[in-house]
Amino acid sequence: MVTGMITLLVSLIYTRLLNKPSPRGPLFVTWLPTFDCNAYCRFCDTHVSHKQQPENLPLSRCLEIANEIGRAKTWVVGFTGGEVLLWPHLFDVIRELKKHNIVVYIVTNGLLLKDYASEILSAEVDYVVVSIDSDSATEHDDVRQLPGLYEQAIEGVKELRRRRKGGKPLIKSTTVASAQNLHKLKGVIDHLGNFMDETSFQPVVGEYEDHPHNREDNQLKNFLFTDNSESTVKAQLDKLIEDRPAFDKTYFKLIPDYWFHPEKLVERIKCWSPFLRLQIMPGGSTRQCTVRSDYGATGNLNESSIMETWNSQEMLRQREEIRCHRNECICWTQDTAFNAALDKFPFAKTFPVWNKSTELPKDEVVNQVETIKF
Ligand code: SF4
Ligand code: SF4
Repeated sequence: MVTGMITLLVSLIYTRLLNKPSPRGPLFVTWLPTFDCNAYCRFCDTHVSHKQQPENLPLSRCLEIANEIGRAKTWVVGFTGGEVLLWPHLFDVIRELKKHNIVVYIVTNGLLLKDYASEILSAEVDYVVVSIDSDSATEHDDVRQLPGLYEQAIEGVKELRRRRKGGKPLIKSTTVASAQNLHKLKGVIDHLGNFMDETSFQPVVGEYEDHPHNREDNQLKNFLFTDNSESTVKAQLDKLIEDRPAFDKTYFKLIPDYWFHPEKLVERIKCWSPFLRLQIMPGGSTRQCTVRSDYGATGNLNESSIMETWNSQEMLRQREEIRCHRNECICWTQDTAFNAALDKFPFAKTFPVWNKSTELPKDEVVNQVETIKF
């Protein structure tokens, strides 16, 4: 715990406070190895992204990257996409990462979970996240446009839980909350709780201009709420949180504002992405933000190492804008979880690194750094 806090602090001093090339690599890596998918979810455009960004990292380079990530002392690597179980190199790469004791999670729609149960167990994956949106197989398969998906996913979860030792991997469901299921979200989560170790939900999002899952609002109209439904949505979420105190967390309480008044969150929610996390795209480019087109690639792993892309001139440019709060944007997946976690540590808000509105003048920053021992 203490070592972890010191590591986090050192990372943030280099990247967030001073914006200098950091001797530490990203603490979190999100690896999107493919945008291919066997589902066609109505709220997702991954197949368009797959055509635009095919896979372009050979296995030999992927294994080297895994070792570079290990040497960079990354804490957690998450694989998402696309459907990661369609990527032929997945388990070879995970095995390489596990040699460095990195925590690994995969996000899957669950269709192939049972087929790959042996690989998941032998590669020692730490967490498996399965996306399920309904307690009705018919509804879920309709949204995902893949008949049989719901049953296959539940079968896969049961198989993993039956065969695993010591509760690993931990299996968690995540439900995309939207206008289609919010009225029955508690029932969905309770139902999934019968099969999963943990359950969670996240808000449907749209209009991320440069995101692989982006769909325009008019394509998402069946999933988004109308402006006059704000009070109903708030009441439904309040009731869910009241009935299920496990969701009494900032992360969930911010969802109505995110849907109806995202501008309110711009000041409150700071972007931590460029200081803590690197994302690897299927073609090998790296990014810290997959939402805005003006925050494009910070490098390409076909030509550069993890550390070079983490400390590239383009990364330093993006960090400078964001640490000076010139980005003026908010997105759900990149920001809210980390900021919600910070809410548990009131002391964090008193430290100048965290605080948007009390940036220190430059000479005070230098003094502050000099007083921090690590
Ligand atoms: S949301 Fe996930 S499962 Fe659905 S199409 Fe997109 S990548 Fe595939
Ligand atoms: S807050 Fe803005 S810069 Fe940061 S990850 Fe989200 S969209 Fe990108």
